Amino acid sequence: MELADLEAAFAPNHSKFHARRVYDSVYAQRSFDPTLIPEPIRDQYKTGALTEAEKYVSADGTVRYLMQLHDGKTVETVFMTEGSRDTICISSQVGCPVDCKFCLTALMGLERNLTAGEIVGQVLHVMQRHNLAPKSRTMNIVMMGQGEPLMNLDNVLKATRILIDQRGIGMGERRICLSTSGLIPKIEELAQATIRPRLAISLNASSEEQRQEIMPITKKWHLADLLETCRKFPLKPKEHIFFEYVLLGGVNDSDADAERVVALLQGLSCKVNLIPLNPGPGIPYQTPTDERVDRFQRIIMKAFHCYVRKPRGRDIYAACGQLKLVQLSSPTALSPTA
Ligand code: SAH
Ligand code: SF4
Repeated sequence: MELADLEAAFAPNHSKFHARRVYDSVYAQRSFDPTLIPEPIRDQYKTGALTEAEKYVSADGTVRYLMQLHDGKTVETVFMTEGSRDTICISSQVGCPVDCKFCLTALMGLERNLTAGEIVGQVLHVMQRHNLAPKSRTMNIVMMGQGEPLMNLDNVLKATRILIDQRGIGMGERRICLSTSGLIPKIEELAQATIRPRLAISLNASSEEQRQEIMPITKKWHLADLLETCRKFPLKPKEHIFFEYVLLGGVNDSDADAERVVALLQGLSCKVNLIPLNPGPGIPYQTPTDERVDRFQRIIMKAFHCYVRKPRGRDIYAACGQLKLVQLSSPTALSPTA
């Protein structure tokens, strides 16, 4: 709930001041005490609080949490720390209905959307566990866990408003980013929102045909139209669109692909993140060699800022595109760490 929702829920029998105390304990203090809520109100609502079902710690320090929802379903939340910067990768849906051919989450299909409370609840849990405070260290949130955030846009926007409320969690708006497979009408809707995350597009291919093959959603929302929508996207000062590009060895990682990507993105205020494929059972692609990734990056860098996303937590299946299925299909593949 946003503060106004909470005040409305408390009215008319309980004061705004009382509602504000609850808001403060949940979002600012992060030490939620349910007894603060008057009983009749408490019984009326479910909390978005999640319970930690499993925790896996990678050799590189990345932590993957399996978070249980009130109905027993689970989602993944990943915590990464590097230097003075922390990043929390959160899920927006249980599973994902988009069938990208390189992604493990795709094999689950969609189970359901998360509520705004469940989206924010993942952040609160990680903040509590790692003692994080956005005002003392740089904290980023990426909506790049399970799910297609634009298929759950209302809850994603509500969660964003809660995350950046300075009376509560107090994140910087610029520090929240969502990544999409490219749902054109929803990108247009996102563009209308006053408070919204930054936009990352999973480009992943250098031509319409290639993209259709690895991201069949392209048959519905064509690449040329997607880029046109990006060109019209109203950017705030100093804002860029991020383009993510999963490198699949021998499929989309040639010099010619890199040159085509540069041509496609011409004129856009953007940055490119390359993600060498994180492998997984049943994923029919190869991770390219470091030399290939390096060549590809050099070509893109002639035109745009371009970073290679370091694989984080590959050993615990916490890296991009690896979320969920391993835990489901072979629970013994990993040993949880307390
Ligand atoms: N559904 C959203 C956000 C979650 S996926 C989207 O697709 O954008 C987050 C990122 O992980 C996307 O850029 C996606 O292309 C990438 N990804 C998916 N599977 C991957 C894999 N096996 N290896 C590397 N990156 C992958
Ligand atoms: Fe869904 Fe993103 Fe995976 Fe595609 S890459 S299946 S959109 S989670």
